[in-house]
Amino acid sequence: VIDSLYVHIPFCSNICSYCDFCKLIYNDKFAFLYVEELKKEISSYKYGPYKTIYIGGGTPSSLIEESLENLLSFLRPYLENNGEFTIEVNPENITLEKLQIMKKYGINRISIGMQTSSEEYLKLINRAPFDVFLKAYNLIREVGFSNVNIDLMYALPNESIEIVKKDLKTILELDPEHISTYSLILEENSVFSKKGFKEEDQDVQASQYELILSTLRDAGYRRYEVSNFAKKGRESRHNLTYWKDKEYVGCGLGASGFIGTKRYTNTRSLSTYLKGKYIETSEEVNFEESIKYFFLTNLRLDIGFSLDEFKQKFGFDFLEKYQSQYGKLYKENLLFKEDGWIKPTDKGILLLDRILVDLF
Ligand code: SF4
Repeated sequence: VIDSLYVHIPFCSNICSYCDFCKLIYNDKFAFLYVEELKKEISSYKYGPYKTIYIGGGTPSSLIEESLENLLSFLRPYLENNGEFTIEVNPENITLEKLQIMKKYGINRISIGMQTSSEEYLKLINRAPFDVFLKAYNLIREVGFSNVNIDLMYALPNESIEIVKKDLKTILELDPEHISTYSLILEENSVFSKKGFKEEDQDVQASQYELILSTLRDAGYRRYEVSNFAKKGRESRHNLTYWKDKEYVGCGLGASGFIGTKRYTNTRSLSTYLKGKYIETSEEVNFEESIKYFFLTNLRLDIGFSLDEFKQKFGFDFLEKYQSQYGKLYKENLLFKEDGWIKPTDKGILLLDRILVDLF
């Protein structure tokens, strides 16, 4: 069974300076053609109804009302009763009408980018002023969405810890159910890289991360994944599919998916996609690699993985095969065992690369 469907909307109404995602400037005509093609691709997979559907981007909220309704009414039957139905939105193109359409078709989780509350940095990353975000967030609540994620960025160029402190205070006042954090990563194709900005030093990143971790923990959020925080029961069920290394269908430009032993990635070319040629690369994952994927994903989670599940999936005992490696990682306070689960420590969750090197 495949529990999750990811749907990619590649359009954005403006381009953020740090962005390297698969995106295009919004255009009515292409957006219309795109949604029609997307529906074809989604129905070409004979799976569903799904436990989670996630519409990401790009900016799904850049779609005009008609296109949004067209897409959501199509997707609705693919969602199980009580399924999680998430959409990403951007402050500048959310409207009351779009939110009402989302509500009507069963969207029950909204993810919105705040990134920062500093006007100076919002300008630098080419995003709308803070009050545009605030208005959008309040509107989301007014329409009655009770499961909201806010994205926060940190370690922006020369960003002081005071700004991060203020961002956290702002977010806590808004009281979202879920918070995703990102440090600025300078991707080669972003406007930032082209302008010659540099990533902040590791120790600056680490101290800002520490502040985020302690502040959000004190406020009652659990860091259930290295960069994600949630109130009790509000973890992203969709993203847990990825982190628990479960299969999922991915549709849309540049989307990737994992079905059986196959991992695939779709084309990033709109014209190719619109011709109905969706998948660009596809690879069979062998046994060794699938173990690697399993560690790579599960050890991002504070609960790690269950030894029973590991044995069931791979047919051998983790602690027997990795006895010496585990012993070393345990001594270094990176991994530990609790109630039949192997978990990363607070230190280990940040040093996943180190753990993986030792395990292989
Ligand atoms: S960060 Fe998101 S909203 Fe900004 S350009 Fe990239 S995909 Fe679009």
